[in-house]
Amino acid sequence: MRRIEADAITQAVERLCMEANYFLGQDVIDALERSLKEEESPIGQQILRDILENARIGGEELAPICQDTGFTVVFVELGQEVEVVREAECGMQSAELNPPFNIPNSALREAITKGVAQGYTKGYLRASIVQDPLRRINTKDNTPPVIHVEVVPGDRLRLTIMCKGSGCENMSRFAMLTPAQGRKGVVNFVVETVLKGGGRPCPPLIVGVGLGGTFDQAAYIAKRSLLRPVGSHHTEAHIKELEEELFEKVNATGVGPQAWGGRTTALAVHVETYPCHIASLPVAVNIECHSHRLKTTIL
Ligand code: SF4
Repeated sequence: MRRIEADAITQAVERLCMEANYFLGQDVIDALERSLKEEESPIGQQILRDILENARIGGEELAPICQDTGFTVVFVELGQEVEVVREAECGMQSAELNPPFNIPNSALREAITKGVAQGYTKGYLRASIVQDPLRRINTKDNTPPVIHVEVVPGDRLRLTIMCKGSGCENMSRFAMLTPAQGRKGVVNFVVETVLKGGGRPCPPLIVGVGLGGTFDQAAYIAKRSLLRPVGSHHTEAHIKELEEELFEKVNATGVGPQAWGGRTTALAVHVETYPCHIASLPVAVNIECHSHRLKTTIL
């Protein structure tokens, strides 16, 4: 077994939280620049220029590229030969780390949560999480994060941080279509979701689509699809064709940058699939805004 100290994970998460909020990824910048060349609406062009300028300032001044610094979603690929070990003295006790209800604080969860708390505090990033959905008391350090763990072969630990704004997350939708509704039903649902969102998710968007699985799996793979480089395509030809058709139809809606009209409603549409039951066709649409904050490291 390879031992990884919890503190190394905490330090990595702290750094990634800050970097994700300050530096927009080059894939997003490239997609925005491509869209700017193709955008016909003058106000749409101006908005795209403003978004690029905002990203430049964020990176140069180490300032968050959006005031909504998001819910921290952490994707972990945990090598099966890795053991996460706590330091002898851990400065922060589990009880202070706002663990979500009914989830035990493992060394891995504790290390990640501590990293989020430190990153958001040291980076002066807005704390946006409430401990209870009804009582709504702010946890003050943006914890707890949402953590997804996949156990994979090997002795490495891969951490990806996504800072997910609520404006776009709130416009995400799910439908349990019937198999008879098929591909056409999927296309209609995705385009309808984008139209319903209008300007609220801050277009231009990255549209993540999860097709298949169960209720929960469809939502998970929709979000996972957002981890792909913006504009990359699925390896299966018929899913790539579906992504291209959706991209064209979403951009034909005319919603445009910040819903001021234009052809740049989305920078990309990513589709991920999973086997599903003979009686169902689940489709989840996870909407992501242009402030696509994503950073990865491998320990
Ligand atoms: S939807 Fe995105 S760009 Fe709009 S306020 Fe939220 S995080 Fe910021």
